[in-house]
Amino acid sequence: MTMRPLVVLWRVSERCNLACAFCAYDRTVARPRREVSAAVVLAFGETLGRWRRESGLPVLVSWLGGEPLL
Ligand code: SF4
Repeated sequence: MTMRPLVVLWRVSERCNLACAFCAYDRTVARPRREVSAAVVLAFGETLGRWRRESGLPVLVSWLGGEPLL
């Protein structure tokens, strides 16, 4: 039996340092830019780790942006 992962898509930042014309997060677009603090990311990671240990199921996290690694 295949273990289906918990899949989390999380837009951690609306900032980007690039300017792809098709994208709503292009740095030249005037818009508010929210982003999650590193402390919140770490805390959520601990929560997911605990869930992983208790459930035995895999977790897949995909960070979206903007550019999540900024
Ligand atoms: S978020 Fe991605 S697609 Fe959008 S401007 Fe930045 S690099 Fe380009």
